[in-house]
Amino acid sequence: HTKNSGRNGFSIYQPSMSPIGRSQVQLKNELWRAIHNNELRLFYQPKLNVTSGEIIGYEALVRWQHPERGLKTPDKFLPIAEQTGMILLLGEWVLNEACHQLAIWHQQGADHLSISVNLSAQQFEQKSLIYLVTRTLEEYRLAPKKLILEITETTAMRYPQESIKILEELKAIGVQVAIDDFGTGYSSLLYLQNMPATELKIDRAFINSIGHKDTDPQLLSMIIELAKNMNLNIVAEGVESEEQQTYLVNLGCDVHQGYYFSRPVPPSEITVVANKYPVRA
Ligand code: C2E
Ligand code: MG
Ligand code: MG
Ligand code: MG
Repeated sequence: HTKNSGRNGFSIYQPSMSPIGRSQVQLKNELWRAIHNNELRLFYQPKLNVTSGEIIGYEALVRWQHPERGLKTPDKFLPIAEQTGMILLLGEWVLNEACHQLAIWHQQGADHLSISVNLSAQQFEQKSLIYLVTRTLEEYRLAPKKLILEITETTAMRYPQESIKILEELKAIGVQVAIDDFGTGYSSLLYLQNMPATELKIDRAFINSIGHKDTDPQLLSMIIELAKNMNLNIVAEGVESEEQQTYLVNLGCDVHQGYYFSRPVPPSEITVVANKYPVRA
């Protein structure tokens, strides 16, 4: 025992730490406790084909049900999780929980559904990612193609050559990959062409501009055309109005996610539809 080491051995206070550093250590410890005390939650937001009216999957979005401070959104704790490395543990929890939930929905008969899980850059670049994903899919007996891992355009383009290798490995095990927040980074289209992804999610900044007088319809339709030429599924994020929905459908994009259809909700508020494609006896 030294009076400097916390119970878990990592909450070591050093007088030289800056006030910011100290609160980071506190937050790191709090996050660690949150994970082990089961305070994290996943909310799910449907991904909908607005033309057929069918929900094709859900995106898992993490929340922290803090015992004193209430429900916290990721912007309040993901930056700290990333700075402290706690994101790896958090990310493992998210992947496991999301796959568990998908397995439950599949058991309820809705086996057409997919689940989208966000990966932070550190998780994406972690050596053990392929092993973790494989093991989790096996644990819940899920078809790999029902899992869609989302990485942001910025993450994908950080080390493009390495990203391509990781994406090849993910492709080899059969999971899908979405490029999230597309259009906000500055990716070289040449590199994007080499990224073996399966889906492109248009950042909600583009969707948000629909209907404003500075809308650039060329840009949106270019992105949609690009995705189609690359055989990528295209998803519009942050669709908030009927006007935006109609505009996107007219441009040929009919898979949407956004408040207009549904906010992210806890799984208790979701009823999946079984036997969507009934087979005649
Ligand atoms: P994202 O992956 O791009 O997720 C979409 C975000 O947009 C979500 O915010 C969602 O609630 C919000 N959103 C959806 N529809 C609308 C809309 O119509 N209007 C507006 N204004 N917002 C909409 P959320 O849940 O706060 O998550 C923010 C970001 O945090 C996510 O962006 C993702 O980058 C990250 N994140 C969330 N959960 C996880 C996770 O489990 N792991 C990791 N690594 N990152 C996560
Ligand atoms: Mg996402
Ligand atoms: Mg996004
Ligand atoms: Mg985002």
